[in-house]
Amino acid sequence: MNTTFHSTRSSSVNLTSRQAIRQGLADDGGLFVTDDLGNEKVDVSTLVGKPYQDMARTMLGVLLPDFSASELDECVRAAYGSQWLDSAITPLKPLGDTYILELFNGPTNAFKDVALQILPQFMARTAAGATSTNEKVMVLTATSGDTGKAALAGFADTPGTGITVFYPEGKVSEIQRLQMTTQIGSNVNVCAVKGNFDDAQTAVKRIFGDKNLATKLEESNSVSLSSANSINVGRLVPQVIYYFSAYVQLVERSAINVGDEVEFIVPTGNFGDILAGYYAKKLGLPVGRLTVASDRNNVLFDFLTTGIYNRERPFYQTSSPSMDILVSSNLERMLYYMSDGDTELIRSLMDNLQNIGSFTIPDSLLKRIRGLFSCGWADENQVSHAITDCWNVNHYIIDPHTACGYHVLSQMPRQTAMPRVLLSTASPYKFPRVVGKAFGLDTAGTDFDCMDRLSEATGTTAPKNLRGLEHAAERFTDVISIDEMGDYVHQASKQL
Ligand SMILES: *Cc1c(COP(=O)(O)O)cnc(C)c1O
Repeated sequence: MNTTFHSTRSSSVNLTSRQAIRQGLADDGGLFVTDDLGNEKVDVSTLVGKPYQDMARTMLGVLLPDFSASELDECVRAAYGSQWLDSAITPLKPLGDTYILELFNGPTNAFKDVALQILPQFMARTAAGATSTNEKVMVLTATSGDTGKAALAGFADTPGTGITVFYPEGKVSEIQRLQMTTQIGSNVNVCAVKGNFDDAQTAVKRIFGDKNLATKLEESNSVSLSSANSINVGRLVPQVIYYFSAYVQLVERSAINVGDEVEFIVPTGNFGDILAGYYAKKLGLPVGRLTVASDRNNVLFDFLTTGIYNRERPFYQTSSPSMDILVSSNLERMLYYMSDGDTELIRSLMDNLQNIGSFTIPDSLLKRIRGLFSCGWADENQVSHAITDCWNVNHYIIDPHTACGYHVLSQMPRQTAMPRVLLSTASPYKFPRVVGKAFGLDTAGTDFDCMDRLSEATGTTAPKNLRGLEHAAERFTDVISIDEMGDYVHQASKQL
């Protein structure tokens, strides 16, 4: 048994990757890491010419060693099939003298699909070997928009699992709401709650901690609760694959030779997308530099500049909502590895974050981090300008999240000939109003009117999954109070 996964804050309890995926977060509040990461390298030259699915099988075999090859094969087949609009899964495209890696060709048109198409497959296989064979998992998520839909699409009709998504009534966009309420599947539940996202999130955390409810669910229908949160190691590792895929595509178009270094610019909020690039480097991918691109919530920029992480700051609602984050959870994993596994240090930093709202890392550690990570950020005007500039220069439309990265990239002096890859995290058609406004288009009417004007102005077409929502049947119309959420979960679990 390969029990090497332990908390970033202590190494006393060790689990298999299967157990770590099932559990999500360590009992002490830390994130699961393994000191084996990087002991076994992946030789990128063996991946050249291979399809994405083969790369996925190879890399997941290294990253999740206690899953069998045949299990991983099943997971990969289910996750990276015809539901993707591009057979490359994450195609690399030239953008002027740089490249863009499209992560949004999955079923919900945002980058979270890369991980959330496969996490349910892992999750469904974590029950194997458990005491009761009809044990089921109900995944609970509170969402401000993107995560809910990607999780629904991933878990829909996955055996042994169910999913319940709560979103704040009136606080998500029209497209985001329709994406969720039209979701097909016999094991999915979507419900609006009266309150804001934080209220819903807090209530979900309370439900996770409710021992009475847990007993009821277990006794009535062998259901345990779990989360599809981005701190789950099963969401992180699938993202490592696309860094290798990007590199291989550069080799295949003769832009580099195997061994040459490549730089990545990554729009990130929770530090998940960019952390996967760091994992890729630890696995042997020649990554020269990783650049964090933030929106106006630039807590990561300040941290990487000063070594002080301070969450006590104003929160801004921006046009890139999936990056509006003040506590960047996955940063903890980077700090763990960069400090050579100093669990004592990580624990005291995280205690400080919890108790006084900030922490400061030692200068030597900051210096080490800055040797690999750069940073930048974009305000709302710069995002809007980046969207128009990218269109004018490259005839390529980017969404507001990707635009933060484009802005940061455009500010970076080119010091070397090292190829640069910008990660693109959402289809621009998910945000047709923001993009239309940047282009100076009329933005009256519905999101669908905005989509049509964007199509007309640019000669591009909206993904069918998004444009088709206008006339799709809504399955879920319940609106409940925060107090009723526990009961809702109980009822939904009975039907699993
Ligand atoms: C979630 C998300 C991000 C940020 O991802 P991290 O895990 O925070 O790095 C960026 N763009 C879009 C569109 C997203 O949905």
